[in-house]
Amino acid sequence: MGEIWIKEAERLGDGSIGGDMDTPSLPGRVVWHTTESGQGNASFDAVGRYLMSIGAEPHFLYDPSTDRLAQYGPIDKSARALKNDGSTRTNRTGRVCVQIEVLGRAGSPFTRTWKPGPNFKALMRAIRSWGVPDVFPMGSLASQYGDPTAKRTRSTWLTKGGHYGHCNIPGNDHWDPGKIDVTALFAAAPVTSTPSTPKPSTPAKPSVSVAHLNAARAKDIPAKTGHTTYPTEVKVVEAALKAEGLLDAKYAGDGSWGTTTEAAYNAFRRKVGYTGSAATGAVGLESLKKLAARHNFTAKA
Ligand SMILES: [Zn+2]
Repeated sequence: MGEIWIKEAERLGDGSIGGDMDTPSLPGRVVWHTTESGQGNASFDAVGRYLMSIGAEPHFLYDPSTDRLAQYGPIDKSARALKNDGSTRTNRTGRVCVQIEVLGRAGSPFTRTWKPGPNFKALMRAIRSWGVPDVFPMGSLASQYGDPTAKRTRSTWLTKGGHYGHCNIPGNDHWDPGKIDVTALFAAAPVTSTPSTPKPSTPAKPSVSVAHLNAARAKDIPAKTGHTTYPTEVKVVEAALKAEGLLDAKYAGDGSWGTTTEAAYNAFRRKVGYTGSAATGAVGLESLKKLAARHNFTAKA
């Protein structure tokens, strides 16, 4: 199931313009129209009302000069802008048949002067959410009324998902939306790849070097409070000492091996059985490994 109402779009009418699709197992498609009117808000409002008054509502009314977008009805139901092809209800062909009336004239293709913005991107996002591919299965659009290069091949219409002009619909004779630049049409709403969810992985264990800690001791203790030498590694040790309940939180994140950190480390050594001079002075690899084993880091020389 794709998007049914585009949250960025204004609403026009009461939302009930059509019904269930006749052939929901056929691929989804889009039909582009032009309103054969001017552009801008006055035209938008007038055409918006006019299409309702004649019961020929598309799903969407779009102004390519302002990026204004309005929606008449839900994408998963039919719209009313096409003529039937004999007994085939073209408005109800496919999983979806998204019809877009673009303010403008077929004789002056809208992609020449348009200013697509966020609403155009939202429109394309909703279309793609129904699996409609970025292709024009009939090939060419019409450059004038009756242009024979614009095919209306019935079998293509019935079997291929993608984008069509009104000029491509069997049983219809209109030639809109004119020869719009289909490459520009898709390029104006680039498909943004969904960032893949990173695999939850076990974060690498931090590694702490005894030599670095002792270098930090030598420099940080005599220096001003807050002096740091190997702050990343000292912080790992401080966090472990805090977790042991030996270092107050306010010292645990500064990365400076000051006298408070030194005292906490000595307390840890006593806690794990060191006594006398073995519980003070330079940090030894053995005691650091004991702390590392309890707090998920690696101790090295
Ligand atoms: Zn049309």
